Amino acid sequence: MREVRVRFAPSPTGALHIGGVRTALYNYLLARKHGGKMLLRIEDTDQNRYVPGAEEYIVQALKWVGIEIDEGQGVGGPHAPYRQSERKPMYKQYAEKLVADGHAYYAFDTEEELEAMRERLKNAGAALPQYNSISRMQMRNSLTLTEGEVKALLNDGVPHVIRLKVPRKEEIRLNDLIRGWVMVHSSQIDDKVLMKSDGMPTYHLANVVDDYLMKISHVIRGEEWLPSAPLHVLLYKFLGWEEDMPQFAHLPLLLKPTGDGKLSKRDADQMGFPIFPLDWVDPNTGEKAMGFREAGYLPDALVNFLAFLGWNPGTTQELFTMQELIDAFSVERIGKAGTKFDIHKAQWFNQQYLRGRSNDDLAAYLMASLTQEGIKCDREKALKIVGVMKERVVFPKDFWEQGKFFFYAPTTFDESVASKKWNEDAVKVLVKFRESVLTLESPDANMFKATLERVTQELGIGTGKILQAVRLSITGMGGGPDLMVIMEVIGKEEVAARIAYAIEHLKLKVA
Ligand code: GLU
Repeated sequence: MREVRVRFAPSPTGALHIGGVRTALYNYLLARKHGGKMLLRIEDTDQNRYVPGAEEYIVQALKWVGIEIDEGQGVGGPHAPYRQSERKPMYKQYAEKLVADGHAYYAFDTEEELEAMRERLKNAGAALPQYNSISRMQMRNSLTLTEGEVKALLNDGVPHVIRLKVPRKEEIRLNDLIRGWVMVHSSQIDDKVLMKSDGMPTYHLANVVDDYLMKISHVIRGEEWLPSAPLHVLLYKFLGWEEDMPQFAHLPLLLKPTGDGKLSKRDADQMGFPIFPLDWVDPNTGEKAMGFREAGYLPDALVNFLAFLGWNPGTTQELFTMQELIDAFSVERIGKAGTKFDIHKAQWFNQQYLRGRSNDDLAAYLMASLTQEGIKCDREKALKIVGVMKERVVFPKDFWEQGKFFFYAPTTFDESVASKKWNEDAVKVLVKFRESVLTLESPDANMFKATLERVTQELGIGTGKILQAVRLSITGMGGGPDLMVIMEVIGKEEVAARIAYAIEHLKLKVA
């Protein structure tokens, strides 16, 4: 089998969309699975769309999710440079070879002439008003001008482009690894520009030339590139590189959570979830967007989630480390149909991965939040808190956000719980429980529990009946992690103080 060499080839036109991260991931999984190479190539031939900072962002994002680049921008390698703008002088010879072989031609048409052509075709009712095998014969190009005229124009430095001469009647076929045979008739394809008037190649030419020169074996990219694939197939054929043509795999679209249409940044904004891996500030508009990293997603959880957006292992296993994904991955198990982007599933993965972290790691998250809030907390206490909250949190920040009661006494109490659970029996228990705990020597969770049970027994009131009221007095809420551990963490003095405050505060409710 041919050496597996794949590339991720983003254009630095803004922040990397999460779908781009998935594309990079699938490429990476295939490369690693077959002991091949993963390349990063920056496709920046469209200088008008270049956004400063985008390339660095892409590199950082890949690093964060754990996609390692073997060759390419920022790493180097035998085919450097890996930024297309720096490879500019390499492309011309291929465009000129295509002209010499009769597969491309010079076109000298001005913007106005092109516009006039489109108008003319539209008025004549043409289905595709474009520069193609029919309309090209009415335009100013090396197919319609004499050799002498063309030479003169070129010598005079008249601005021109090089266009691909798409055959008039030809069935173009390609065998996509995901979609099977794709057939397109050449009459559907326009004579795409290969070289622009500024001497820069277009995406199509640069992409094909580089894939060939970099010995790419598989092109795995988003479905939006499928319409370009037949054109690329033609280029491989005309350049005499058919033998070396990579295998294509066009990934299914990522759909809105509702399933109708392609996932967009607007959907993500509206539904309040990130669409970029890392925070991004648009340098042109100043607009800020939150990243998955900053929203609290762990890179391994995000990778696991993305892997499942279009691929499945064919078993019921859902949790996969990167190495397990590499072992299980195959392009054959990527589906054709678009995949709904379900952010709840991403959260579920995050929860699973967070639970899997050691308490030491988790304590570090909590302590970082606490430092930000200016709260002091020793490691032992942080470990107890994360230990008891671990099963409930989705994001690292939840330890603090959902565990504020470990540090602050409640000043308000959940009304709905108070109205149902706060009653004379509860107050009776609480008064006695408060007195009893004050007599205890550094009580732990078990001692608090035993004390509460003893008190309820003495008063002949079922513990189950008053437990939520006790919780309400300590945390202000009706639900949460193990109450006895909460009491152990905050200590008996604090427990007593909170109970006293709650009784005072909720007095009216029982009157
Ligand atoms: N530069 C293209 C992009 O921005 C690459 C498409 C391809 O992989 O061929 O996605």
